[in-house]
Amino acid sequence: MTVQSTLSRYQDIVQLAYFAIIIISLWMCEVFFTADLAPAKFKHTSVNLLFIFTALPIQLVMVSFVLMITVWTNLHHWGLIHYLPYSKNAWVYYISLFILMDLCEYVYHVIMHKLDFLWKFHLVHHSDLRVDVSTTIREHPGETFVRMAFQMLWVFLLGPVAAVIVLRQTVQTFSNIAAHTTFRLPARANKIIGLIFITPNLHQVHHHYQLPYTDRNYGDVLSVWDRLFGTYAELEKKDTVYGVDTHMEPLRNGRFFNILKIPFQKLVRK
Ligand SMILES: [Zn+2]
Ligand SMILES: [Zn+2]
Repeated sequence: MTVQSTLSRYQDIVQLAYFAIIIISLWMCEVFFTADLAPAKFKHTSVNLLFIFTALPIQLVMVSFVLMITVWTNLHHWGLIHYLPYSKNAWVYYISLFILMDLCEYVYHVIMHKLDFLWKFHLVHHSDLRVDVSTTIREHPGETFVRMAFQMLWVFLLGPVAAVIVLRQTVQTFSNIAAHTTFRLPARANKIIGLIFITPNLHQVHHHYQLPYTDRNYGDVLSVWDRLFGTYAELEKKDTVYGVDTHMEPLRNGRFFNILKIPFQKLVRK
């Protein structure tokens, strides 16, 4: 076993443990602070948790490919990052790559919404009729595959070192899980933090069941892309209804095997 693969295996476990700690802590905060002990919350969580079993094998296998591409690009000094001025400076290098990778995630998210055959997979995430931290895991295995394939492409284009990918993954995990919590930031805090970052308030807008809100706030960690490309929107909690207008039946959205079938059914856009 090479040093690189040992490192990758070790990183997988660390990232997985980190993901589990964040999601369990925030889920417990949701239960504690909202006093939501309703059986519906537990049932909802248990359905979404099943997506771990479909995502994990795909994620683990494809992370190895991402790592192989990283090793190749590093070895050949390949990637757009090398054309960036001052990229020899560690701060410039890390911050620029973090921002560029976030832009890639924004582009990925827009593509998932705009191409019908990809939207059928991504809408599984949107079809959740209640949004809480467990919604973060609700991803069709088809989307897990496409997401990781895009990640391979971004790494190939940009050429980051493995440490940047790990840093990005660490921040992204926290940001994604936090964005799905049932909590909302106070309006003033949201105004300030939301200037740069995607907050729960902003991501909840993205989970509103009707257009144009479903096609707003695509940002992954940073909200600046939405402001820059005109996809930024705000919506009051009282006006937000979770789901997708084409898939509002609880039976179709609330059972694991029914959810898995969604991408293979006829899509009717509203
Ligand atoms: Zn989306
Ligand atoms: Zn979401």
